[in-house]
Amino acid sequence: MDTTQSRLWHERAEAVILGGVNSPSRAFKAVGGGYPIVMAKGQGSHFIDVDGNDYIDYLAAYGPLINGHAHPTVIQALQEAALDGILYGTPTPSEVEFAEILRTAIPDLERIRFVNSGTEAVMTTIRVARGVTERNKLIKFEGCYHGHSDAMLVAAGSGPSSIGVPDSAGIPQSTAADVITVPFNDISALEKALLIHGNEVAAVLVEPIVGNFGMVAPESETYLQSVIDLAHRSGALVIFDEVITAFRFHYGSAAELYGVHPDLFAMGKIIGGGLPIGAYGGRREIMEKVAPLGPVYQAGTMAGNPASMKTGIACLSVLRDNSVYERMNRLGAKLEQGILESAQRAGLPVTINRIGGAFTVYFTNQKVTQYQHAKASDGKLFAAMFRGLLARGVFIAPSKYEAWFVSTAHNDADIEKTLAAVEDTFQEMKSH
Ligand code: PMP
Repeated sequence: MDTTQSRLWHERAEAVILGGVNSPSRAFKAVGGGYPIVMAKGQGSHFIDVDGNDYIDYLAAYGPLINGHAHPTVIQALQEAALDGILYGTPTPSEVEFAEILRTAIPDLERIRFVNSGTEAVMTTIRVARGVTERNKLIKFEGCYHGHSDAMLVAAGSGPSSIGVPDSAGIPQSTAADVITVPFNDISALEKALLIHGNEVAAVLVEPIVGNFGMVAPESETYLQSVIDLAHRSGALVIFDEVITAFRFHYGSAAELYGVHPDLFAMGKIIGGGLPIGAYGGRREIMEKVAPLGPVYQAGTMAGNPASMKTGIACLSVLRDNSVYERMNRLGAKLEQGILESAQRAGLPVTINRIGGAFTVYFTNQKVTQYQHAKASDGKLFAAMFRGLLARGVFIAPSKYEAWFVSTAHNDADIEKTLAAVEDTFQEMKSH
């Protein structure tokens, strides 16, 4: 496969854009380096690079493209928004309609605010929780990603009583000192942390189904309820980061799948239909602490912009037909089974965590329920799979910690072609 034009574009990019990428996860650093593939256009379940190579797309832009590229309903909405003038800086009907649609789908969103990214949504829920509780500390879970606000870039300490260490330069020690990290799927670790810090904790923040050390669901049906109960017993609020999970597995939140009710939600990705978006919301009396009604400040020039609202409404209108989720689940199951069979034939240690159309292929024989297990997945084998698939026209995220996303645009032919590429790739890996 000739990718010369990607290399040339990347060389040009490096001279003007830091590192040649606008988000570090786009670099191929975790899969052996070299230049990333530069894409030119997308259609349905495929995208085409600047050399004209065609790929089946499982990246889905890291999640938002649940309806694939250039879905006609979404494109029509975007065109209409553009023709009406892109931005007003005033209230508009589309933001009201979209908020109503979200609250109908997720009744716990009694009040909503739109922002522009998942990072902003999470950052603001934290400020709200601190404003409401008048406490500073936060508890998050090891390996979860919640965007790049200062507090959310604090990594794990080594035990429930330890305080966080920054995972990035430029984060004040005072910020890190307020963040406590515990392992996911380990209720006693959370219990211990709350025992020590409980009366200082403003919020416990969690991805209800983790998407950031691969796809990891709660091990028990009652885990999330226990997280909520423990947090509330300490007077802390519970924030669900549903930036990946909202509308991913069904028409609604992941919280609903477990019958639980967090105090606040952060959302993004899918709800924008491919345009920049974030949203946060939750219980009315909590949300009423936000300006202009309350003392917690949050604002945004682009917040609720009509283009994002209209593409979001269009994207969800496609998902409203719940049969699309059955289909993504069926195609996801077919991929899972085929990949496992190919792995077995090649003698490769593969474990797959799949929820509906989203799954992660780990190179380990161990069950993956915590970050430590995902970390143990073999990065060299992952890189070999990534390269083998890329060369055969299948594009997955360039990191062992990401997921494959099946969209409503994928079909059986895509799955069969993908499985043939997986079989060839695994056989090639076996012979090396
Ligand atoms: N929360 C989660 C769970 C995410 O996966 C991400 C992005 N991968 C974010 C927050 C941040 O969203 P954004 O990149 O839109 O700022």
